[in-house]
Amino acid sequence: MLRVGLTGGIGSGKSAVARRLADHGALIIDADRIAREVVEPGTSGLEEIVAEFGTEVLTDDGRLDRPRLGEIVFSDSARLAKLNAIVHPRVGKRTEELMARASADAVVVYDVPLLVENDLGGLYDVVVVVDVGEEEQVARVVRDRGMPEDQVRARIRAQATRAQRCAAADIVIDNSGTPEELDAKVAEVWEQLRKRA
Ligand code: ADP
Repeated sequence: MLRVGLTGGIGSGKSAVARRLADHGALIIDADRIAREVVEPGTSGLEEIVAEFGTEVLTDDGRLDRPRLGEIVFSDSARLAKLNAIVHPRVGKRTEELMARASADAVVVYDVPLLVENDLGGLYDVVVVVDVGEEEQVARVVRDRGMPEDQVRARIRAQATRAQRCAAADIVIDNSGTPEELDAKVAEVWEQLRKRA
């Protein structure tokens, strides 16, 4: 099994690359998505969060109110640790369940937005970075997600720089071209990953 860490700044095209790799046959593990799944209504994860933080962290329809929870934990490291103690083991267990389905020669791609920021490169056999210029990132996120430009730029400033990310990469995918050009680049990268797996 080859463990691949996939990362890139907001709007770089990480999800676009992950989708293409999945089409080639990679098993994609999306930590953000798993972290949302383990606290959905009806899960023991959400039950424990409510036991710890109270019903004030629920929305009217009984879902986790993430902005509210964020306000509570990000100013209080002890409470953040409590939240992590609930969420992290569940993410770990779910990840293990997904991995158990992978064959010995599988390429497992972990979609990790903050891989470089959290210095997680050592966890993977190969680190793949999706790279585009800031103007491209801003234009795509504003166009496709309707996020205001100043928010996108603030997010970019809070993340690692392009140079930091590329320095941590084994493979850099330049996504400044068209989606069709990205298809071709991902197909090449897939060949490299298959060989290594
Ligand atoms: P990330 O997951 O890194 O935040 P996405 O994969 O969601 O980025 O890409 C951001 C937006 O840009 C998406 O709407 C996606 O469809 C679009 N996009 C990705 N690659 C390209 C490309 N080569 N050309 C044009 N648009 C692209």
